[in-house]
Amino acid sequence: MSKLPHVGTTIFSVMSKLAAESNAINLSQGFPNFPVDPKLIEVYQRKLGENVHQYAPMPGNPLLLQEISELIKSSYNRSLDPSEEILVTAGATQGIFTIITALIHVDDEVVILDPSYDCYEPSITLTGGIPLRVPLNAEFLPDWDAIESVISNRTRMIIINNPHNPSGRIWAKSDMDALEQLVLKFPNLLVLSDEVYEFITFEQKHISAHVYKSIYDKLITVSSFGKTFHITGWKMGYLTAPKSLMIEIKKVHQFNVFSVNSVAQAVLAEYLPTVDVQSLGKFYQEKRDLFVSLLANSRFELMPCDGTYFQTARYSKISTESDVEFCKTLTTQHGVAAIPISVFNGNGADQNVIRFCFAKDQETIHQAAKKLCAI
Ligand code: PMP
Ligand code: GLN
Repeated sequence: MSKLPHVGTTIFSVMSKLAAESNAINLSQGFPNFPVDPKLIEVYQRKLGENVHQYAPMPGNPLLLQEISELIKSSYNRSLDPSEEILVTAGATQGIFTIITALIHVDDEVVILDPSYDCYEPSITLTGGIPLRVPLNAEFLPDWDAIESVISNRTRMIIINNPHNPSGRIWAKSDMDALEQLVLKFPNLLVLSDEVYEFITFEQKHISAHVYKSIYDKLITVSSFGKTFHITGWKMGYLTAPKSLMIEIKKVHQFNVFSVNSVAQAVLAEYLPTVDVQSLGKFYQEKRDLFVSLLANSRFELMPCDGTYFQTARYSKISTESDVEFCKTLTTQHGVAAIPISVFNGNGADQNVIRFCFAKDQETIHQAAKKLCAI
């Protein structure tokens, strides 16, 4: 009997495969298609000649842990102990799985907000937890009455994702304040804050959970170097947790991966302090603006995009197909692949909204826009 009877192949694999088979421009799965920083390649090549090829210490290369703590200090003015409160992970995905496995007991409830990133629910289910899926509102922002109505003392965790994939929305300060109040009201509740797009924000910066001191003893965060340094294939990230929770998380991590790719850690330890992560927002804002301006005369209705490298769009002036069917048609008939949003909803609710990834070079954005405007 399957442990995950309702889970198929992730939409990202499905759509990227269909894009390749259809020779379509792949704006589905989120990954950049432009070269990485040459400085990063240079450091990598040099590190390969050094003594960095054996197991890193279990929690991470100490130099990298130190650099991560300085990044968090400079970004959010939060001081963390690199040896006790930070863990290097094989991408945010492994971090999320490890956190949930370590902290969620059988029958513990975990709130996730739909449309929710697709690795959350299976991780909860596999560990015996109970996912409580609460829809975000029509603007993809939290509905605090709906959230609070499902929370009780059996609820062990709420997972938030800000900036949000797939919608590209960012939470207002009032939403973060509401989260803080919720955590203070329910002493059993932990927060897992997935902030993998933390540096990809546009008109306004996101307000990180890292700045909420009153919930530090309940707060776990995950970040991804894949997003921040355009290296999604390296599968490198990190998590933070208060010491008491980190002890439990490390118990799982040591038997899950033991430690993460030693070469990549050594490279990132040297590279990280040389990069201004705050410039990433401007870099991607130019891409968003280009994509939005090129689609202005299309029949797609673009929705707000405050951060991430995803632009959502309504297509009701073009088709009455379901979003899943429309994405297939778009890929196979019109040569552009996108992601349907309904697959991130527990109840499958279809708002006829799809997601495009604009982390692409200018030429790709122009070519894709031309095809999309012709529909
Ligand atoms: N969370 C969200 C919201 C994501 O979009 C992603 C993937 N892009 C991840 C987690 C996983 O990140 P990683 O590739 O570092 O495992
Ligand atoms: N997070 C990426 C996205 O949203 C995909 C990651 C993956 O393929 N697992 O498109």
